[in-house]
Amino acid sequence: MLPTAYVISGANELTAVGTSVPEAPLPGHVIVEIAFTGVCASDIDAYRKGYPYSPTLSGHEWSGVVAAVGEGVVDLAVGDRVSRTTMPACGTCKMCKVGHRDLCDFFSLGSQATAPAHGAYTSHIQVPAGGLIRLPDGMSLEEGAMLEPAAVAYHAVRRSRVEAGDTVLLVGAGVIGLFTMQVARVFGATDVVVVEPDADRRAVALGLGATAAFAPDDPALLETLHGLTDGRGADVAYECAGQGSSLMSMVTYLRPGGRLMMISAPTAVVEVVPALWTSKELDVQTSRAHSRDEFEVLVRLFERGLVRTTGVTTEVVPLSTLPQVFERIVEYGAAHRVLVDPRG
Ligand SMILES: [Zn+2]
Ligand SMILES: [Zn+2]
Repeated sequence: MLPTAYVISGANELTAVGTSVPEAPLPGHVIVEIAFTGVCASDIDAYRKGYPYSPTLSGHEWSGVVAAVGEGVVDLAVGDRVSRTTMPACGTCKMCKVGHRDLCDFFSLGSQATAPAHGAYTSHIQVPAGGLIRLPDGMSLEEGAMLEPAAVAYHAVRRSRVEAGDTVLLVGAGVIGLFTMQVARVFGATDVVVVEPDADRRAVALGLGATAAFAPDDPALLETLHGLTDGRGADVAYECAGQGSSLMSMVTYLRPGGRLMMISAPTAVVEVVPALWTSKELDVQTSRAHSRDEFEVLVRLFERGLVRTTGVTTEVVPLSTLPQVFERIVEYGAAHRVLVDPRG
């Protein structure tokens, strides 16, 4: 029987399709036996709205074990534990040619000529070897499945230029927020104050090292921020809630000259009053995905325990239940990341 892959085929449609994985991979490619795939909020969003998805969106956070290597692959072997990364810059596209290798047109696995016809909601996937990273011994396959969302956080923190002594405000303690918080600490942030309506998520954030965590309407939030900063406000604020509605209130919490970084990418139209930004001369920044070199650093942070998944990945479900799991997340949300095990 052909292995099954689940793909998002339209609004509220998750279709099981048969896949065929070649025994001998293409030259330069590797076949990975999937261990865990994370159910990303962007998968759920694509499922709800039915917007055109790419195969790398429909199950794009994954780890596994190399099952076969194609001709010309020298740095990976059968049995290696791996995680997906992003492709190294191609060096020849229009962005690479003018020195913006970090904005290469072909960074995603889905932009490759041999992109898989499905994502990693399946048992095996064939990908270019350049899109993989070997996991160090001290890093589990569960952690490996969270490397991609952690890299989204890492990229944003790196771009926001956090420095030692900074006070950080983090809005939204979902998976990206929890990684952003930990990476900001690694970059030198002294305090990280979290804003999150869900009490369970606030508890996880505190467990992973947040200085304090508040519900959005808690008056102690502003008081605490001012107490930590001699009344100035936060140096950097990260929007990780997926709702542009917090963009207005975040201005209140930032110091003059502070940085406001959008990590989530809300698709809704939101109202902002730009004069509030200019009156404080804020740097308003955005961050897209990640670059290959960031994954190399991140695996070391995971290995040393500087970035952890404690409380982040609390549930593993078998692949066969994916349609019900998607429906449940649409209806009730998911406090943290659900991992899919294709062996189940
Ligand atoms: Zn994702
Ligand atoms: Zn390029």
